Amino acid sequence: MELNIGLQNLLGNSYIYLLLDIGYNVGRLGDQYENSKMTALQIIQPDNPLLRRQALRVTDFGAEFQALVDNMIDTMMEARGLGLAGPQVSQSLRVVLARLPDGDESQEQYGDDAGKLYVIVNPTVTRRSDEKISGVEGCLSLPGLLGDVERHEVIEISAQDRRGRPARYTARGWLARVFQHEIDHLDGILYVDIATKVWRPEDEEVGLKEMNVGP
Ligand SMILES: [Zn+2]
Repeated sequence: MELNIGLQNLLGNSYIYLLLDIGYNVGRLGDQYENSKMTALQIIQPDNPLLRRQALRVTDFGAEFQALVDNMIDTMMEARGLGLAGPQVSQSLRVVLARLPDGDESQEQYGDDAGKLYVIVNPTVTRRSDEKISGVEGCLSLPGLLGDVERHEVIEISAQDRRGRPARYTARGWLARVFQHEIDHLDGILYVDIATKVWRPEDEEVGLKEMNVGP
């Protein structure tokens, strides 16, 4: 997609990927919502201790949890995010969302992963590739910052779906990065903790501003 190309030009490194909770999701999910009434939730900021807490396992998959998942989807879409974790919306629960963009160019880049919504509950990473990839990440909870982060290129996850049914996921590349970033949130880990470098995008980096990275 053009955003990656722009960023590669900007940073002069064809191996850099950009991940943001803040991102470029466009379009509606329509029938992927369980309920018709959604509410965008408040995304808490870095000084909130909830972000640093070990989130609890989800044990009740009832109506309240289903409403939370829908509201989290709405929140992620409204914030144009690629992912969202429970603690980011003040819910200390082990639930994460991920959704890569679904434009034409995104489909070229991500294939079947483009536009696919993942709701992953109580995830455990069961396999991590030896190979790691460095990429640029941001986070809805840390506005105005970017960082270089190494992530495993491929991971496998054992988890439950939003109804509590067992589920397994294999993710690579960008999707694997989103999963790792979001699952870290469940353990109180922020990307800045593991980044090799963190910076504030400069004003002259017009491309980044256009990508809604700024505060
Ligand atoms: Zn984040």
